[in-house]
Amino acid sequence: MVAAVSHRTDAVVIGAGPVGLYQAFQLGLQEVRCHVIDALPHAGGQCAALYPAKPIYDLPGIVACDGQALTRQLLRQLQPLQVPLHLGQVVTGLQRLSAPGAADGPRFCLHTSGGLVFGCDAVIIAAGAGAFLPRKVPLLDLSPWEGRQVHYGEVTPDVWVGQSVVVMGGTASAAECALQLAEQGAARVTLLHRTDRFDIDAELDERLQSAIGAGWIRLALGQPVAAIAAADGRLEALEIATADDQRRALPLDVLLPRLGLSPQLGPIADWGLALQRKHLVVDTERFATAEPGIFAVGDINTYPGKRKLLVCGFHEATLAAFAVAQWLRPGQRIALEYTTTSARLQRLLGVVPQATDQSSSRMGSGA
Ligand SMILES: Cc1cc2nc3c(=O)[nH]c(=O)nc-3n(C[C@H](O)[C@H](O)[C@H](O)COP(=O)(O)OP(=O)(O)OC[C@H]3O[C@@H](n4cnc5c(N)ncnc54)[C@H](O)[C@@H]3O)c2cc1C
Repeated sequence: MVAAVSHRTDAVVIGAGPVGLYQAFQLGLQEVRCHVIDALPHAGGQCAALYPAKPIYDLPGIVACDGQALTRQLLRQLQPLQVPLHLGQVVTGLQRLSAPGAADGPRFCLHTSGGLVFGCDAVIIAAGAGAFLPRKVPLLDLSPWEGRQVHYGEVTPDVWVGQSVVVMGGTASAAECALQLAEQGAARVTLLHRTDRFDIDAELDERLQSAIGAGWIRLALGQPVAAIAAADGRLEALEIATADDQRRALPLDVLLPRLGLSPQLGPIADWGLALQRKHLVVDTERFATAEPGIFAVGDINTYPGKRKLLVCGFHEATLAAFAVAQWLRPGQRIALEYTTTSARLQRLLGVVPQATDQSSSRMGSGA
């Protein structure tokens, strides 16, 4: 059964990491309409989530550029092509529908965790090591309270006025979350962590220590070992094991685990595509999987000689875009054009050509 399609498009790119963003750019140059979907609330994949401030030194022609700056530039480059990004959405399902070009609808339907349904004729998987999802609290099953008292995602602090909120973790996002709550004065804030050392930069540490010193944030040291439920079923407290092997209850109304992100290949592994050690097997001409209409680029794919480098992912995305265009327009010649000389590409990119050179706008497909 096919759910109602919320977005109908030519192609969907799964993953808004650097390779997924560049894939969307290359598809745009081919005039393939596409949407990009990512589990994270922001674009940039590993570059933005794992090393935003670390310089990258091996991008062609760019001496140094950190992960955040690269993401910014990729988004800026994509901007004129007006590709819709759907963030905070995990692609959970792939449905195969009609034959290519069939009048009665798209070839594939993709379903997301947020209830969106994309109808498309090509899927490009740029999923890296999988969807970046928040790490769950280890050893505890908090699922009965998730979405009610336990929140892994974005929060709106003013809804917890006067309540006891426990933020858990030693990451920058844990410290920032606790500070945000404390600074807004919206809640009694406790920061729960194994030790009093945090994996954060000096400036954030100074702000955190001064908030702890001023009593705006209480620090609780230990590991949660059990969830304590009240008679009415509410999560009442966490049982904490301290470093000196004591047990104590940490009462709470709201728990905000901020334990970092971990990539989960999840549903992609169940779509019946050929996998080698959790990587999608592709050819090196089109970066296509064995299933017609499904392509894979970037860290998610594998082929003889594969290297997980940005520059390799960008190359794969470029060739995959030509292949997707060919797949969508069978029998049509997909010509190679230069952005420096093609009036068509320059129009798409919204740049004003410096000189008019009609003759050199298209090169033969054999070029
Ligand atoms: C610390 C570090 C330093 C690095 N330094 C360099 C370097 O100097 N030079 C270099 O070339 N490379 C470097 N790399 C490697 C480079 O970052 C990766 O090759 C690159 O990020 C791969 O891009 P990608 O878009 O394929 O995947 P990713 O960046 O992993 O992005 C994949 C995206 O897909 C999303 N996703 C996955 N599954 C789903 C789903 N089901 N639904 C929705 N979204 C989904 C994820 O949330 C993620 O945002 C480094 C990597 C690390 C970790």
